[in-house]
Amino acid sequence: MIIVKKPQEIDSMRIAARKTATILHKVAAKVAPGVTTQELDDYAAELAREQEGRCAFYGYHGFSGHICSSVNEEVVHGVPGKRVIRDGDIVSIDFGLVYGGFVGDTAITVPAGEIDPEWQRLLDVTQACLKASIGKAVEGNRLGDISNACQVVAEEAGFSVVRDFVGHGIGREMHEDPQIPNYGPPGRGPVLKAGMTFAIEPMINLGVHQTQTLNDGWTVVTKDRKPSAHFEHTIAVGKDEAEILTIPDLDS
Ligand code: MG
Repeated sequence: MIIVKKPQEIDSMRIAARKTATILHKVAAKVAPGVTTQELDDYAAELAREQEGRCAFYGYHGFSGHICSSVNEEVVHGVPGKRVIRDGDIVSIDFGLVYGGFVGDTAITVPAGEIDPEWQRLLDVTQACLKASIGKAVEGNRLGDISNACQVVAEEAGFSVVRDFVGHGIGREMHEDPQIPNYGPPGRGPVLKAGMTFAIEPMINLGVHQTQTLNDGWTVVTKDRKPSAHFEHTIAVGKDEAEILTIPDLDS
């Protein structure tokens, strides 16, 4: 069942999501050659303490990080650790925060130093995928319209859409109904209503769409080990347009 949030609940989600996005923004700004993913994780934990929020991923099914840090061919769920970020890497950071009883979930992929132009195009297209999907999160559309918008943008650019992982409803729980694939036909699935809140998160690969999970049980990599990008926002479906809830407070 897809939960439609009341305006007061959206107000609470806006606060949680803004804190989430502010932390992500600050952690992403630390990405640079020579920095370890553990240092990024430590910084996220510190910022979450300052914001008096709880890191949603920490301890989730035993996950040891406060962020997911996924470098280059890593798609999602990378575990922070000793890996040193190098010049030319792309680093996805995914962060979830619980505050005031609601969860915010957001991700970004950022370059470290100078990256290959084709990798930069992958980042740009993945962001365009997210924007296109959010553009369909309007009352009266169907869930499949969100999914299809992403696929069209990705495939027109010559990239592939990860099938094995999808976006999700979000609210008091990190994962609520529905699942939100980033591919599929338009005009199918549940009709969207204002007040539904979703985490939309395209994962787009430079090469094939297939993935594998490494022996750590977490880190998902592309099957062909070509790079992958991931962007995510928590949004609220609106009557005329969606509201992006995970907008950072750049003054804080
Ligand atoms: Mg998510």
